[in-house]
Amino acid sequence: MTASTAPAANNLEAFFMPFTANRQFKKNPRLLAKAKGVHYWTPEGRKVIDGTAGLWCVNAGHGREEIKQAIAAQLEEMDYAPTFQMGHPKAFELAARHAAMLPGDLDHAFYCNSGSEAVDSALKIALAYQRARGEGTRTRLIGRERGYHGVGFGGISVGGMANNRKFFGSLLPGVDHLPHTHLPARNAFSRGLPEHGAELADELERIVALHDASTIAAVIVEPCAGSTGYLPPPKGYLQRLREICTKHGILLIFDEVITGFGRLGAAFAAEYFGVIPDLMTVAKGISNATVPMGGVFVRKHVYEGLMTGPENAIELFHGYTYSAHPLACAAASAVLDIYKNDGLFQRAAELAPYWEDGVHSLKSAPGVTDIRNLGLAAGIDLESKPGAVGARGYAAFVKAFELGLLVRQSADTLAMSPPLIVEKNQIDEIIDIFGKAIKQAA
Ligand code: PMP
Repeated sequence: MTASTAPAANNLEAFFMPFTANRQFKKNPRLLAKAKGVHYWTPEGRKVIDGTAGLWCVNAGHGREEIKQAIAAQLEEMDYAPTFQMGHPKAFELAARHAAMLPGDLDHAFYCNSGSEAVDSALKIALAYQRARGEGTRTRLIGRERGYHGVGFGGISVGGMANNRKFFGSLLPGVDHLPHTHLPARNAFSRGLPEHGAELADELERIVALHDASTIAAVIVEPCAGSTGYLPPPKGYLQRLREICTKHGILLIFDEVITGFGRLGAAFAAEYFGVIPDLMTVAKGISNATVPMGGVFVRKHVYEGLMTGPENAIELFHGYTYSAHPLACAAASAVLDIYKNDGLFQRAAELAPYWEDGVHSLKSAPGVTDIRNLGLAAGIDLESKPGAVGARGYAAFVKAFELGLLVRQSADTLAMSPPLIVEKNQIDEIIDIFGKAIKQAA
């Protein structure tokens, strides 16, 4: 396209938007042009409070000077270096820092560029590990209904959100799904972890009985499901899942793309729950979303299990051009300093009860059928209009944006997950605007 035929900046046609009703959006566009702290600004200069930390990713708040400087310095020093049969110091330094903060013996880090890549990498590492230890018949993967594990073919196969799967063919074979743990009839308006439903983990025993443990490689779950409407696990559920996996030699993968890096008021959900998975996927808060990055953290036995062949043999035929990209490593290292120096995980833990009271104060707002919270995040369900699932959620989401608040809509559920630097008065503002939005949208 020549300069003379280039579209004007306000022509919204050419961008094919992800996970968006493109035609609807282009009639009523919502643009964000500037960000700092817990706020965005539209191109017209209207201030919008970021109730979702971007997409659950800007945990340390927007526009952090320290990250900016680290990225700029890295760009000056070295823009890019391969990590296939080569290395660069920042990658090793970052992995050592992650290993030091991870619970248990999760002590090796594989890097990629997104949560979706992290999930597909984790599934492949799990399969390769089973094969390397002489258990090559273990090829079956178990996910969960309503699970969200990104959009790679592995991730949508183990994921359990119908719309993310049903348009895309036959997906991976040999996948089963555990039931989801969302039990509104028994657990509505739970504060923190729901009381009921730990026994749903026993469904894994049923799947084992059906297929035999010798065919099952791994189970993947979000310790607290995020994108599907924020569903904290029932008390004791993850512990039971861990026990059953251990008993049958099945690897347990926690997808911590949302829960990792402080969302629950601990570095990781694994730490929060005291349950150590064999592999953990992360992204989002790993780099505070400044440079795309994801990772898979693996336990010692998994890493060592793969290091058994001849020393000159590549142990894992998998990786990305941008695995451990120097700019991502620089950003990720700078954000670790911020998390530590500002005590942001502790801060999230301290704010969580205030947040919980705030979100549950919306209980009697019009059309609210359930509210769930854990750490510094919440999911709020609105009653669906007959024959128009999602219409009410969309109306509330648009209204919130008009009133100056960004929330995340998924059908008739709205999720909120502010940056961990949020102040109490800003939590009040978020709750106030959200309450008005659902009232006006009703
Ligand atoms: N896993 C989980 C649990 C997620 O929440 C997400 C993103 N919301 C992903 C994977 C995919 O991450 P990405 O969009 O970076 O590919």
